[in-house]
Formats: sequence, C-alpha cells, structure tokens
Amino acid sequence: MTRATKEEQVCTYFVLRTGLKTIHRWMKAPNQRSRHAAKDYKGLIDARVAPKQNTAAEERPDTHYLRARVKYALEMCAELEQQAAVISMDNKNKVHIGSKTLAVNRHLQPGRFFPTNDQPNYQDHDFPTPGYLITPSGYFVMKPGEKELFKDEKGREHFRFDRIGETHVVNRPPGVGVNIESHLCDVLPITQELREEGRTAVLLVVDNGADFNPRSHVTQFFYGKLWKDGDLDAMAVLSYCAGDSKLNPIERIWGHLTKKLTAVYLRDVLPDEDLPPRQQRLEQRVLEEKEKKVFKLALEQLDGYWDGMAYAGCKVSSRHVISEPQAALLPAVQHSLSSKRALILNNSMHEETKFQNQHLRRLDGMLIFTKCVQEPCRHCTEHPPVSKAACQLFSTFPTPVPSSQDTYETYITARAQARSHQDEHMPSRITNHLGTCERCSTLYIFTSKTDKIRHMRLMH
Ligand SMILES: [Zn+2]
Ligand SMILES: [Zn+2]
Repeated sequence: MTRATKEEQVCTYFVLRTGLKTIHRWMKAPNQRSRHAAKDYKGLIDARVAPKQNTAAEERPDTHYLRARVKYALEMCAELEQQAAVISMDNKNKVHIGSKTLAVNRHLQPGRFFPTNDQPNYQDHDFPTPGYLITPSGYFVMKPGEKELFKDEKGREHFRFDRIGETHVVNRPPGVGVNIESHLCDVLPITQELREEGRTAVLLVVDNGADFNPRSHVTQFFYGKLWKDGDLDAMAVLSYCAGDSKLNPIERIWGHLTKKLTAVYLRDVLPDEDLPPRQQRLEQRVLEEKEKKVFKLALEQLDGYWDGMAYAGCKVSSRHVISEPQAALLPAVQHSLSSKRALILNNSMHEETKFQNQHLRRLDGMLIFTKCVQEPCRHCTEHPPVSKAACQLFSTFPTPVPSSQDTYETYITARAQARSHQDEHMPSRITNHLGTCERCSTLYIFTSKTDKIRHMRLMH
C-alpha cells in the first residue's frame, strides 16, 4: 500500500474533524426556490440532493430511424385528410380490486379538498388478494382534419398532425384473456364507425409487447383479418423501437386515468358480505359465481370513474367485457401456424394466409395491407376500394431516407424522390444482411433468421 501524501493526510484530518452537517453545507442547496434555506449552503462542492427523474431511456441503433418512420406514417394520414384515421393502442398497468388495497399506487397524493375533520386515512399497507386485477386496454383514435403545412426549425415543410381525439378504454376482469384477438375485437367496431365516416385508411400505432408485435406471424394473421373484416381500403401497423413505447400517443392518457383513481378502493366484497369470496372457504362453483359478481361490480365502479372523462378536450369512454370473444380463434391460429403440415390441414386458414400475403407489404416491424387497384382479385372486385388514392399512398409508403444534415429527409421529400421503399436505410437491416423473400410476389422483408426459416417453411 502506498503512503498518503502530506496534503492527503491534512485533508483527511480536516474531514475527520469536520461534522457531517458542515460538509453538507459545503454542497449545493437541495431546493434553490427556498431562498431562506438556500443561504446556508455554500456550493463549494458540486453536489446536491438528486431530483427524482425517470426519463433515462436506452438508445438502440434503430431508435431514431423508427421515430422517423412513425412520423412519416402520421404525415401520410394527415395528407389523406378525411379518408384516414390513426388508432394508437396499448394496455394500461393493471388496476387492483380490493377493499384493503387502493386501485392504484397508494403513494399518489389525493389532490382533492376534504373537510378538516373528515380527512381520509388509508391503509398503511396493501393487502392485495392474489389475482384480483383488472386489465384496461386503450384505443386512442385520432382523425386528421384539413391538410395543413407547417415549417420546422430547419425550414422544411411537414403536414401537421394533431394528436387529439377520443379514447376508448375496455376493461377486462381476471381470467378473461387479453391478447391480439381480444384487442382486434375491440377495434373492429371502431374501424366500422370510421368507415361510415368515409375513413377507409387506418394506421395502427401499437406497442412492442407480445400482445401487439407486428413481427409475429400470429399477430400478422389477426391484423390481416381486421383489414379484411373491417373492409378497409388500406391498413398499416407499426410501432416505435423497443424502449421507446412512451412515445406512443396513448401513453399520455394513462397518467390521467391513474390520477382519477387516486385514493379509490374498488370493492372486492359483495354488498351484504364482509369477506372477499376467496377468503370464505367456498365450493369451487359457488366461489366462481360469487367472484364473477364481485368483478362485475368492480368493473362497473371503474367505468363510473373513467367513462365521460375529458382530458385536454379529448373524451374518454370506458366499458367492460366479461367474457372471451365467441368462438375464439387464437388457439387454432397458433396451432395452424406452428408448421406447414398443420397449416395445410386447415384449408380455410391456408387460403386466408395466401390471400393476405397477396395484399401485404411487410417491412421490418411494419405491415401494410392494401386492396388491389390494378387487376383486382375476387375480394377486391366484390369490395372495390372507396379511396384508390389511399391504396396508392399506403402501398408506396416511403421508408426514411437519411439526409445530408445527420437526420432523415422529411416525409414530403422522401415521397417525392420515391428512392426508398424497403427499409434499406434501417441501421439494423444494414448490418444483418437478411434481405427480402424472392419467391413472394409482394414485398416480404425478413426480420430475423428464425423469421426467414419460418416464412420459407410455411409459405413456400
Ligand atoms: Zn385484392
Ligand atoms: Zn415469401
């Protein structure tokens, strides 16, 4: 061990002789706004009490590129004006059902007025009943208005896209599956309403989680089914980069919904009972019946808090679903897409996937379904597109092109140049050399080695 120098010995001596409180006073004031207290701090050491922040996010190679791609897609919808709509969707954190557990985090401040002799006092601990959780799924529907251009700070032109609209929340009790099929059951009536308004081109901005991920063959099948069943002219699905899902517009709504539930208990006991069904030692059948009633009451209570809420001029509607979709397809789809043999045995699904592939442009993490405009197939002859312009624009959607200014070209420039349609400037694609399927008549980009193997085995 090296011996400390004379200066170090002196420093150590002073530090040991100085109280901890004095050392704290040599640092910066914890709160600059409180001037009176700030006077006591000398600021000799560049250190202070850290403010709470949780905005650190991991930058991945594709982060910037995928942000640009979502921006392009939103501008494409803005360009289509009254013919397009955007639906941003994701699940919210689960909500607790419990008479001794607050519906959301108990550390949230109530922020409401109470008479001084009637202040609320909540349980000092949470006593959650295992599994008593509600899963809310949200669908934020944004409709572009009239086409409007604006210039950014570099003087480049963009189509304005305002992220305002109505949010539909669908709550599901424990035991009811929340998956791609249930989500698209929620979305189908929304797209039908949009269609009646003449909005036949829909963009879905989804989360990267397993429920929604457009890279999976199973979710791809359900998205294709939504496009066909909803009789949409064009439909695109895409997401931000993993770790960037906070940018999905629906995320802004969750905070307001959580706040609305501050200091709320969703009751887990029936009106004339004292204990939750789970703690009553009941026969399985009776337990299930009682729990169903409890969950239904909790869901109605939850809707009461959220339905009709307004946030920044945007309305929120809330409803609940207490059972799985009738004749749920998901298990059969998962099985059929597990091998070529299983797919061939399920004839209708085999035909359906072939049909979808003829109308699909599959980029890396983005799906674009469009009706045929030239040489229409049977489906497109029987259901001709309302807006050929929408089909045209979606099918030639330009993927981001780097510009000379260390950023990406604007949507307007990229579309005019029509140089890039295949994600060829996506950083991860430049390094993975996976390419596209040469045997598919439409574009099919391989997103991983597994995807390549699966696609070749299933489709060719
Ligand atoms: Zn067709
Ligand atoms: Zn292929």
